[in-house]
Amino acid sequence: MPRLRAEQIREGLALLDESGLIEDASLYDELPERLHANQAFFTAAAATSDSKGNRAQGVLQESHVLLLGLGGGGSACLPQLLALGLGRLTIVDYDVVETSNLNRQTLFRTSDLGRKKLDVAREYAKAFAPSTEVSAYDLRIEGVEQVQHLAEGTAGILCTIDEPPFVAQRRVNAAAIALKLPATFLLSQHTRGRVFSVKTEESGCMDCLQIHDELNTVDFLPQYRALMSPERPGTTAAIAPHIQRLASYGVDEILRLTTRYAAPIALGKQVEIDYLTGELGTLMAWDRHEGCPTCGTADPRFEYVFEVAPL
Ligand SMILES: [Zn+2]
Repeated sequence: MPRLRAEQIREGLALLDESGLIEDASLYDELPERLHANQAFFTAAAATSDSKGNRAQGVLQESHVLLLGLGGGGSACLPQLLALGLGRLTIVDYDVVETSNLNRQTLFRTSDLGRKKLDVAREYAKAFAPSTEVSAYDLRIEGVEQVQHLAEGTAGILCTIDEPPFVAQRRVNAAAIALKLPATFLLSQHTRGRVFSVKTEESGCMDCLQIHDELNTVDFLPQYRALMSPERPGTTAAIAPHIQRLASYGVDEILRLTTRYAAPIALGKQVEIDYLTGELGTLMAWDRHEGCPTCGTADPRFEYVFEVAPL
């Protein structure tokens, strides 16, 4: 059996390390056992790319995320964000738990009916992940400055609210662009879900998307107006597995954007989940538009597009 010199062993180890095949034991030393499997995953992710995956767990423990909404999407995002070992989480919601929520919002129990979703979520977080510092705000999103105030100092925004439709998302978008923070948006309608992200200087923003749609989609504005009008009265069409799947994509996306353990999947792209076929596909990618009122020069020629859902 050939004998290896110390130098050869060192060279071999360096090579393995470069390939990300050596686990840094010190990464586990300070880590609570409940997060060890997270670290093992991020190490595996780092080994397959030149990502910053290996440090992702540490980044998470230092990170603060703003979760807007505790409805179908948001309530499913909460346990996942906590399980990731996030350092700080700010949650915002104003609603109470209703019977009609219980088919898909599995954070809530029958015994929670009538309680504020925020209170249930806070209680859950305290019991499940006492090391995560949680701030909870009982309010509706009413303006850009309010979102900016909530998001200041966070690493990113996960937006699951849609009230008023498009206006709420536009406010979040404007705040994220102003603060240069990544924001991920979740939307679900009937048999399809959608995820998209924006980040200053890395993608077009949501208002660039509106201009893109107006320039590229026949009859975009009439369709936009129809979506803006209050939803027809009736029952929400949604089942738990699809809403939870959409939430999972949203949490993973904001995780990618904040830790860079791997490339984001929906930055400047609308990624759609077809609940019926189970397929995931890019519906449409869009670029930054110079004339955008939020991240560009506010070209007056496009003002009419934004009159549909003013901030
Ligand atoms: Zn823009």
